[in-house]
Amino acid sequence: MALSVFLLLSISICYLVFLQDLLLSVNASNAQSHNLTQNSVTPINYDLYRSSRNLMGEIRALVRRHPDKLTMETLKAANKGYGAQITVVTYGKEKEEKDKRSKLRILLSFGQHGRELITTELALRILSILSEEKLLPGMDQASLNSVLDKLVIKVVPMENPNGRKVVEGGDLCERRNGRGVDLNRNWSVDWGKKEKDYDPYEENPGVAPFSEPESQIMRKLAISFEPHLWVNVHSGMEALFMPYDHKNTTLDGLPLKRMKSFLEEVNHHHCQERCMIGSGGGLVGYFAHGTATDFMYDVVGVPMAFTFEIYGDGTASSKDCFKMFNPTDPAAYNRVLSDWSATFFTIFKLVPLQIGEKAPILKLEKLVSIDEYLDGYLMERRNRYGKKMEVLELGMQEIRTYFRLFLLSSVLLLFMFCSRISKSKCSRPLVSSIPL
Ligand SMILES: [Zn+2]
Repeated sequence: MALSVFLLLSISICYLVFLQDLLLSVNASNAQSHNLTQNSVTPINYDLYRSSRNLMGEIRALVRRHPDKLTMETLKAANKGYGAQITVVTYGKEKEEKDKRSKLRILLSFGQHGRELITTELALRILSILSEEKLLPGMDQASLNSVLDKLVIKVVPMENPNGRKVVEGGDLCERRNGRGVDLNRNWSVDWGKKEKDYDPYEENPGVAPFSEPESQIMRKLAISFEPHLWVNVHSGMEALFMPYDHKNTTLDGLPLKRMKSFLEEVNHHHCQERCMIGSGGGLVGYFAHGTATDFMYDVVGVPMAFTFEIYGDGTASSKDCFKMFNPTDPAAYNRVLSDWSATFFTIFKLVPLQIGEKAPILKLEKLVSIDEYLDGYLMERRNRYGKKMEVLELGMQEIRTYFRLFLLSSVLLLFMFCSRISKSKCSRPLVSSIPL
């Protein structure tokens, strides 16, 4: 009886030891493959790219050198112990706000996702050309100035400085803000809907629409500025997207005609026809809910609202984020910056042709109601998907703890069994000691 119990126990312990070994070896191989991928990950090339601190420093210095053309403001917001501040640079020769209101208004945002460093470099390049410190090849300054005279341009060079710091701290794949929310899923149009392949590490929409200070700042900026053109500049592929991101519905009538012909022109002149054109939801192969561009079009009433994807390396491994989202050699880096800065100056020329020289009135009354909507119950809602993830993680931790305790107690039992058996063996008289 004792023997059979012992055998049973031994077998189960062997099995448990085998399981533990298996787990250890899986962990080891994971760690090994992680190390391998770590080794093959391209680091940020600081010979080409500026740190966020240096980039913003250069922009501040540029604005100081050209007070006649550029002005700068820093907008701040905070929510539940998390704060953010965003710098906005305005190009416009008029000092009076009312003179600016009579012009066509353009709002450009860069660096909404931390890992897309090339976009913030493009912001600096565009501002340098606007200040006339850098020249656009093939464009004479007089004709450029006559175009720019009709416009007020607001540039947000880095929408997500906190997320960018996380990237500079070594987490090269981080796209979300400083507390893990994707700023391009935190807007109110179709907010919070999750697709089957939803990944919280990429697309966490936050606990409510506009829960994040960065999106609150951008929303206020858009509402007060009322742009005629909005471009949200990203990287990861080469594409020119128009609304909608959250559904596979193409616009119709004048908005479609206007935006489509605009993008076709840009694709023809600057993308050599290789950029994808169309609605984000229809082209990318997945729907994005709660995006900035859908909000700009649907709620702010921006007549031309786009998301541009300016660079992507499809050959890079999914862990090699710096390479996937940013050109890594000087030739590609310079090509992207000169091509896309030229694109934006073409766009500046096209806007008055598409919209008309006079600034049309936008849908202001709709914006008042969205304010009330935000201050209301929606801010109190909780992200139930986020809670589910927490519960699952806690459950897994409990299972791991119980498994370890079970293993330890089995080992102790085996030890006690073995010591008892060896004791009883020692107390038995040896045959050879019996006298003949
Ligand atoms: Zn992006």
